[in-house]
Amino acid sequence: MQAKQITEPSRQTPLWGEYEVVVLGGGPAGLAAALAAARAGRSTIIIERYGFFGGAGTAAGLSTFCGLHAVVHGKHEQVVHGIADDVLARLAAMDGLNKPHLTVQNQITALSYDISAFKIAADDLMADARVEVLFHAFGTGVAMADERRIDAVFVETKSGRFAVRGKVFVDGSGDGDLAAWAGVPYDVGDGSGNMLYPSTMFRINGVNPDRAGRAWEIIPGLMEAAEKQGRRFPRKKPIVRPQRNPIEWRANLTQIKNPNGTAVSGIDARELSYGEVEGRRQCWDVFQFIKESTPGFEEAYIVEIAPQIGIRETRRIHGEYTLTDQDILGCRDFADTIGIQGWPVEAHIKGDVKFVFTPPSARGFNEIPYRIIVPQKIDNLLVAGRCASMSHEGQSSARVSGPCFIMGQAAGTAADLALGMGVAPRAIDVAKLQQRLRAAGANLGPSAR
Ligand SMILES: Cc1cc2nc3c(=O)[nH]c(=O)nc-3n(C[C@H](O)[C@H](O)[C@H](O)COP(=O)(O)OP(=O)(O)OC[C@H]3O[C@@H](n4cnc5c(N)ncnc54)[C@H](O)[C@@H]3O)c2cc1C
Repeated sequence: MQAKQITEPSRQTPLWGEYEVVVLGGGPAGLAAALAAARAGRSTIIIERYGFFGGAGTAAGLSTFCGLHAVVHGKHEQVVHGIADDVLARLAAMDGLNKPHLTVQNQITALSYDISAFKIAADDLMADARVEVLFHAFGTGVAMADERRIDAVFVETKSGRFAVRGKVFVDGSGDGDLAAWAGVPYDVGDGSGNMLYPSTMFRINGVNPDRAGRAWEIIPGLMEAAEKQGRRFPRKKPIVRPQRNPIEWRANLTQIKNPNGTAVSGIDARELSYGEVEGRRQCWDVFQFIKESTPGFEEAYIVEIAPQIGIRETRRIHGEYTLTDQDILGCRDFADTIGIQGWPVEAHIKGDVKFVFTPPSARGFNEIPYRIIVPQKIDNLLVAGRCASMSHEGQSSARVSGPCFIMGQAAGTAADLALGMGVAPRAIDVAKLQQRLRAAGANLGPSAR
């Protein structure tokens, strides 16, 4: 059925400003892109719909960096460096960073942080790099200079609608919004319409740390036993872990489905509206179970349900190369590497989470090729983060924060090189990009020239 439509009157849209680099979205990818471009001396603006940075890390309440570490030949080590180190250093200086912990049945390392500290650390990094920040601005579309070049991105703000003009654009929206508006081809889901399921995260306070101990090890068993008695949970493999101050715990154990069982889509306004309500309903339901069944949680309460449902996957653009799970599990090298990552394939499937690691005999990490952030069809755009050019299964691994920092830093640096050389990002000298990334502290892996 055709939706009813009305015709909007045409209008003149004021220009907010003109910049060398325009970044849409302030998650790990967008913020690293803006910092890299501005540190290279480019006039840079970052546009973010919320009033803070961090993306899913703050807005969806993750409070954990995954993918900064890998198990390299059996040894746990941090493999992502560069701007990620600057973020970690700021968090540590604010006493907002937990010690690294083992997760996923003790198979890999992650780092949890205080959400408010991450917001402030990102503000400070942006101010130091002189990035212009435009908060509370929702990107809604593009004006094209011609069929291969974006001229400006439109934003809706409390002061009205504006156009933000740029020479090079970076899509850090997570959803590939900018790329889609500009006409970059993309995929959604696994080819049969199945996306990774979202989760609504929440944090619990008032836990008695002595009594709770290592409760994360017993909660899955408590859930299994309750299921045998007929209790139902949204999914298996709960992650319920202490924050830096162990009276506070984070909980990741919801799974947000439509009434027909499919994953709620992060690019469908009706499903998102339904999913927010359903997410909070599930948070309350699973919290009640934890409080009633877990020693140390008797006096606990929900201190916060994340401001928004956590979306793992929507659009994945078609780029110059598509990173697959074979590349990840085969620890593949690429001549155009921009960094390395070793997070397992983490598939949030119906009712469960499936992890697939590289074989124990393998090296434990893959290189990320520059080409996955270079979209087809558009010449002045880079697409970094969870919407980069990856297969459904490849994205199930390389969507986490570590690789997103890598892609963002490479995108901002490549934008600077493209402007300096007067070429499209796809035509830059990749060896120069690698030299610049390495000089900025990045760990590119064995193939870098
Ligand atoms: C429930 C859940 C748990 C997860 N757990 C972890 C974990 O523990 N550790 C981990 O490392 N990763 C985890 N992930 C993966 C996480 O999504 C990625 O690590 C990462 O946040 C993706 O980064 P990004 O920068 O590509 O996009 P996002 O983090 O999604 O950031 C995109 C940003 O763009 C903004 N934006 C989007 N569209 C617009 C627009 N049109 N206009 C203006 N602004 C816009 C958003 O507000 C947001 O700030 C989890 C994901 C989910 C959903």
